Amino acid sequence: MSITLRPELEEMRASLRQFCTLQLEPLARKIDETDELPPEVIPLLADAGYLGMRLPVANGGMNVGLSTYCLVLEELSRVHRIFNLIVAASSGIAPSAIAHLGTKEQQRRYLDGVSTGVKRGAFALTEPDAGSDSASMRTRAERKDGKWVLNGRKHYISGGHTADFIVVLAVTDPEKRSRGGITAFVVEKNTPGFEVTRVEGTMGSGVIKVAELTFTDCALDDSTVLGEVGSGFKVAMSHLNEGRLCVSSSCIGTSDRLIEMSVEHAKNRKTFGKPLAARQAIQWMLADSATELACARALTYGTVQDLEDGKDVGVLPNMAKLHCSEMVGRIADRAVQVHGGMGIVKGFPIERFYRDVRHYRVGDGTSEMQRMVIARSLVGRGE
Ligand SMILES: Cc1cc2nc3c(=O)[nH]c(=O)nc-3n(C[C@H](O)[C@H](O)[C@H](O)COP(=O)(O)OP(=O)(O)OC[C@H]3O[C@@H](n4cnc5c(N)ncnc54)[C@H](O)[C@@H]3O)c2cc1C
Repeated sequence: MSITLRPELEEMRASLRQFCTLQLEPLARKIDETDELPPEVIPLLADAGYLGMRLPVANGGMNVGLSTYCLVLEELSRVHRIFNLIVAASSGIAPSAIAHLGTKEQQRRYLDGVSTGVKRGAFALTEPDAGSDSASMRTRAERKDGKWVLNGRKHYISGGHTADFIVVLAVTDPEKRSRGGITAFVVEKNTPGFEVTRVEGTMGSGVIKVAELTFTDCALDDSTVLGEVGSGFKVAMSHLNEGRLCVSSSCIGTSDRLIEMSVEHAKNRKTFGKPLAARQAIQWMLADSATELACARALTYGTVQDLEDGKDVGVLPNMAKLHCSEMVGRIADRAVQVHGGMGIVKGFPIERFYRDVRHYRVGDGTSEMQRMVIARSLVGRGE
């Protein structure tokens, strides 16, 4: 099995790396100092062609293949998770569901402007009483006077406070729930009855925030229904494999950078008259990290290639997400150890990476949920 990418992708990696180093690194330092997103970030990513890159050409995108997209996410993740999040959101579940399931009018209304960075979307599934068990959601959409009236609360929604449009899942038939009783709606930011009720910081970079969204008698036209009434769970599931592989490639990028920084530090830092790199204790940490990363690359990009070739990938995306998100935590931990005090103090990116990567084991389906799906493929439901 080969773990180098196709030659054209490796060439693209070189120019991406240069863009990230020259243009994004200085901005990452600014973000760490201020916990604010500099206004030039979104236009810069748009001009470079990274926003909406997975969307169809008709919707302003470039319809790039999954391997190209994963490579972009990988390289962005070497610098700062916020760049990765902005790019991933612009081709993520909200815009891509509208591109593939939305009406022409919905596509025009919401997607024009995504690739130029003028419009942003978010996806709202999680609720205080429905996270991993998302089918137990309480947000309700009821039919009243020819409208859909939404009542409920979503939380932990990435970019929910800055989004222009949000794909919101709500129960339309409590009897059926995940079997045809949940519907996706596209809610615009200024819709009466919709409010961003809280914005919360997260572990890791202070610029990364999640929002609580509250719907109080929020009346929506039929034109806001995305896909068929009752097909909301299908909308949510439609992007799962791709989402898991995007997380995997993001974990690969950060791991690669952490190993690179650790090797550099180990070669330059001398203790007791020798570089750290001469010590077996340090060498073994580096060897373990490099080996885990090679496995992650093979699993992730092998699965991406199979998906692009139209093969049935089964639970391989779950395995990739599980392995990569757990791996990056171990690699970040070793990177802190190799750097000693430099790995702990603020101002040097290791400690920020260490905090940022913790998210990967929770978001986009926790490690336990991935294990549950993988185990079911082996033993069924075990009943
Ligand atoms: C930074 C961030 C961004 C997010 N962005 C979004 C977003 O944009 N849109 C959105 O809809 N959601 C988003 N989420 C929500 C995220 O998807 C959920 O947090 C996640 O699915 C877990 O749900 P929960 O927090 O309710 O935890 P719970 O489901 O309560 O789980 C708590 C713990 O119990 C474990 N657990 C649960 N059930 C079982 C079981 N049956 N067996 C074994 N273990 C179990 C879980 O794995 C976890 O470790 C985001 C979350 C975070 C932290």
